[in-house]
Amino acid sequence: MKPMNKVVRLALICEHSDKDGNPVDYSDVYKLLWQLQAQTREIKNKTIQYCWEYSNFSSDYYKENHEYPKEKDVLHYALDGFVNDKFKVGNDLYSSNCSYMTRKVCAEFKKSKSDFLKGTRSIISYKSNQPLDLHNKSIRIEYKDNDFFAFLKLLKRPAFNRLGYKNSEIGFKVIVRDKSTRTILERCVDQIYGISASKLIYNKKKKQWFLNLVYAFEPDNANNLDPSKILGVDLGIHYPICASVYGDLQRFTIHGGEIEEFRRRVESRKLSLLKQGKNCGDGRIGHGGKTRNKPVYSIEDRIARFRDTVNHKYSRALIDYAVKKECGTIQMEDLSGITAESDRFLKNWSYYDLQSKIEYKAKEKGIKIVYIDPKYSSQRCSKCGHIDKENRKTQSSFVCLKCGFEENADYNASQNIGIKDIDKIIENDLSSKCETDVN
Ligand SMILES: [Zn+2]
Repeated sequence: MKPMNKVVRLALICEHSDKDGNPVDYSDVYKLLWQLQAQTREIKNKTIQYCWEYSNFSSDYYKENHEYPKEKDVLHYALDGFVNDKFKVGNDLYSSNCSYMTRKVCAEFKKSKSDFLKGTRSIISYKSNQPLDLHNKSIRIEYKDNDFFAFLKLLKRPAFNRLGYKNSEIGFKVIVRDKSTRTILERCVDQIYGISASKLIYNKKKKQWFLNLVYAFEPDNANNLDPSKILGVDLGIHYPICASVYGDLQRFTIHGGEIEEFRRRVESRKLSLLKQGKNCGDGRIGHGGKTRNKPVYSIEDRIARFRDTVNHKYSRALIDYAVKKECGTIQMEDLSGITAESDRFLKNWSYYDLQSKIEYKAKEKGIKIVYIDPKYSSQRCSKCGHIDKENRKTQSSFVCLKCGFEENADYNASQNIGIKDIDKIIENDLSSKCETDVN
């Protein structure tokens, strides 16, 4: 997915200090920005002039030679590089901003050149109220003591030395007007949003400088999910979650050691507490079992809470994987018929909680959930379709007795679960197998 750009307008307060740490006068910084603005206008108009001159040269050349000259032969550079070179000195603008700006002006000229030549458009002329262009690497957003700051690289070296600044950067405090602005800035600081080339703009009415910050973000690409692409999700034989797209060797696996480990740790403590409860000589004796075993209940709560947290984490990671794989459908087993005696039931592992969390998060992304009959998904070979109890050598490994396909048992199951209409396919296979057996 291509990142999307959006703009947020930020009012700036000057919070800069000079190289000795003394605060710089607000009005001084404004004066400086106006100087840069005047230089910007001059450079832009001169750039148009260079472009125009080259264009005239080029058409004269064409009249004589019946072909256009190559920019590199004439200027030693491409036109925008040639222009940029002209402004390396003689102004105070930070070089990346300056070259970004001249390149943009050259591109604008080239785009409208035929209109200028035809006379259907007048040649671009830049007015005094020019925005200051900022290269994306000239912008830094920082968070400190509950405030956001924009550090903008604005000055060339000779200029900041001459003007008494520490370096090319000038810092501004950002006025945060609402919650959404705050969220955007937080995400820029956390690098969830990228920062793109932006502009500093002076608002004459408000007598204030604003940063039009352009930020880039990954769009919610739920609409790009393919509903016919299915992620098969197998829950809890060997791993709590194993998921894969049919035919894809890549898989999403949660190893789940943390729940097991937490359970072991807590259960050993539970046992020792139960023992204590039985033989306790403290105040809890004489009360009912419920009071006597009170600490045990709080441990049950802790397990439940831990499971809740972990299931949230697992389901989120699974949905991220589905989105990454552009799967618009998730297939899972309908586990309502599974009993505690079944080999597919792991003690203390909450399938239902995990499934409901997956379902909830899938809906948020527009992913469809399809439940399938779990009957043969772990015994079926996902390669050749052969169904046999004996295919499962151990809890963790699958070896097909017919075709010899060997894989992790959970991965093989997730492959089966990820096949469209797998219920019908199995049903058909089994009934045709019966027929051959009879014949
Ligand atoms: Zn097979």
